[in-house]
Amino acid sequence: MQNFPLPNLDGAPIRLNRDFDNLPNWYREEDLKIFREDHPFINEIPKGWGNPWPDLPNPDEEHSEFFLDRIKLSEPRNRCEKRSLLGYYLSWHIIGVSFQNENGRAPRNGSELKSYNDGLPKENRFGIHICCKSIEEYIERFSTDGIEPSEIPLYKEYCTFLTLVYVIAHEWGHYRSEVLSFQLTNFVKSVTGIDSSNLSPSYLSYFVNKKRFPLSNFEEVFAEWTSLKAGIFNYRMKKPSFATMIPNWPIVEATVELMLTRAISRPSRIRPYSDIRFWVDFDNITSDKIMERLSQNLRSLNRAVNDNTKLDLIKSFKNGKIIDLLMHNQMQFSLGHNFNGIIESAPLAFPYKPDSVFYDFGDDECMKTPRTAYNSNKYLRIENQSFSLNASPNIYKAIQGLKEPGEDDAVLPIKVFSQILPLDPIYFHV
Ligand SMILES: [Zn+2]
Repeated sequence: MQNFPLPNLDGAPIRLNRDFDNLPNWYREEDLKIFREDHPFINEIPKGWGNPWPDLPNPDEEHSEFFLDRIKLSEPRNRCEKRSLLGYYLSWHIIGVSFQNENGRAPRNGSELKSYNDGLPKENRFGIHICCKSIEEYIERFSTDGIEPSEIPLYKEYCTFLTLVYVIAHEWGHYRSEVLSFQLTNFVKSVTGIDSSNLSPSYLSYFVNKKRFPLSNFEEVFAEWTSLKAGIFNYRMKKPSFATMIPNWPIVEATVELMLTRAISRPSRIRPYSDIRFWVDFDNITSDKIMERLSQNLRSLNRAVNDNTKLDLIKSFKNGKIIDLLMHNQMQFSLGHNFNGIIESAPLAFPYKPDSVFYDFGDDECMKTPRTAYNSNKYLRIENQSFSLNASPNIYKAIQGLKEPGEDDAVLPIKVFSQILPLDPIYFHV
């Protein structure tokens, strides 16, 4: 057993209602209008492989009716039935809430919670879940106009690969957020010397707020940012084997990635996902300069995502990162510690005096996966999948393409914080 932390379930879910009744709704439609202008992207794109992508389905479950005390995860529930859902992340905290609801008490320790989790139906277990059919059906809607007929299967496979790493990295962003709540708790403990300081973040309060105000949920912006940084533009991600067969691959690759970023940042896309365009300078990360760097095979686009956040527009966050903003958000959910307001998905109400304690807290970089990584719990892993080629052909091929020769599992160059919250292999639902 790893050092599996126990979610702080103190008082949950009863305490939550009291905390949240007086929270203002931070969403202000009229203030948004000034941000609505669309930015032009590069005009010159190759035909076919540069076809615009259809609107993206959501990488999350909707929670129009959300009550913590109704969560009972021992009841099977096929969320992927809904074809608008690409994937989801089930947090360790929610497993804890379900344990409490079903047993009438909090779990005694991490081991007890882990056994409870392992006994749940697969689709309800802690971790990252992928809805294969939704991804396959999304790819089926793509226009293949202008693409050489012999290249169409490769085009679809590559679009599936990009969508898959987009969803995985998005869900990883939610995992990162939960890890952060544990890191903050440890940090506060190390400063104050007490176990349950009122400065410690309450992940559950924070979670409920996200569900209550989904339109201005900043964590979704963070998750979209990680989807760019750790997924789409992760230069350490294994290239598809057919990359060598397509002429001028670096430009083709950059163009397809660009088409996905357009689908992500499109103003017509629903909030809060599309709000990512207020935080990241898409003009810059898809600029000629960077395309040129790519065509010379300088694989620095991941760093470009980091460099092109618009955080330098906010004086107080000059040295901050998006992860620092997320950390700041979580700190707000400490009782009696609501001093700067919640950070919204659209940057309308930046905290004007964030404390320097929020800066440079963690390392969230992508990692190079050495050969020895296959038995390591430090990387995101896709275990050998039991589903057949027929069940989800493009996902199947994309996963095969992510494997190193002779290996059963695929190991993604995305960090797992195994000392804080180990993350099991990703669940694929066909
Ligand atoms: Zn999400």
